[in-house]
Amino acid sequence: MRIVLLGAPGSGKGTQSQRLVQRFGIPQVSTGDLLRSAVARGTPLGLAAKDAMQAGKLVEDSIVLGMIRERMGDADTANGFILDGFPRNLAQAAALDVLLGQVGKPLTAVVLMEVDYAELTRRIAGRRSCQTCGSVYNIYTMPLGAQPRCQNCADHPLLYQRPDDNEETVVQRLRVYEEQTRPLVNYYRRKGLLRVINAQGEVDAITQLLVDALAARPEKARSKAAKKVAKKAAKKSAKKSGKKSTKKSPSKAAKKSARKAARKPAKKQSRKTADKSPVKRRRLAKPARRTVAKKPPRKATKRAGTRRRTRR
Ligand code: AMP
Repeated sequence: MRIVLLGAPGSGKGTQSQRLVQRFGIPQVSTGDLLRSAVARGTPLGLAAKDAMQAGKLVEDSIVLGMIRERMGDADTANGFILDGFPRNLAQAAALDVLLGQVGKPLTAVVLMEVDYAELTRRIAGRRSCQTCGSVYNIYTMPLGAQPRCQNCADHPLLYQRPDDNEETVVQRLRVYEEQTRPLVNYYRRKGLLRVINAQGEVDAITQLLVDALAARPEKARSKAAKKVAKKAAKKSAKKSGKKSTKKSPSKAAKKSARKAARKPAKKQSRKTADKSPVKRRRLAKPARRTVAKKPPRKATKRAGTRRRTRR
């Protein structure tokens, strides 16, 4: 499984990635986590990324792609991975295709997690994370009066709020999502990889939707069906308006005989059969006409010959 989870900030990509890690035993690769870790360690990449992150903008492609290339080289991604927060624009998506193409392991599915904006803002405002294990919580869904502490770590450290999870930055991050990340929906739909789920509701229920979506047909297949319906509707309305469709769908028998004819070698086809094909008829007719035009008038030659013989 080589999966991309696509969705706005706060759509639950991180939470659901962790669930998929448990379920499928493949690692989560989150560019947000990689960048936050680089910032915390004060590495040159982290320092270069810090300002953009605090402003809710995208970090430069070269930085993010460098990190991804390095991470995808790790042995644990050999059997699959869940990309969370990457790619975030078309250039990154194209670079990912190249990277995976080089190792012959293209993406197997992309899931878009749809959540409305009111819910996204509420989720981001209530989001708290554990700095030790990376678990994500939401204060609005925690038991009332519970301390915001990590339940997964033995020493239950206090949870922290990400510095970019404030109201001003959230507006900017959602804008960036609409402008730069949303175009990936069509990009992956055209590639026949896209699945869409409604990611609003209970976390467990969403996990199930996600697992089902991964096993389901991608969006492309559904849009083909939609095209069929649209074609039918167009035919119907054309009929109503008096226009006749000139295209006829060939019957099963006609298709079968066409396939048979295609299998037959051309030489063995009798002239009679070949002449039945309108294409061949046209091909035969043209040169025949040209030959006739170039030939000297046959009647005159014949007559001359006859006259000569008669004289003798
Ligand atoms: P996230 O944890 O995925 O919400 O990411 C937090 C921040 O990290 C984003 O607002 C960006 O500033 C930066 N970031 C994460 N992933 C990417 C990416 N693929 N491309 C550019 N910037 C990113």
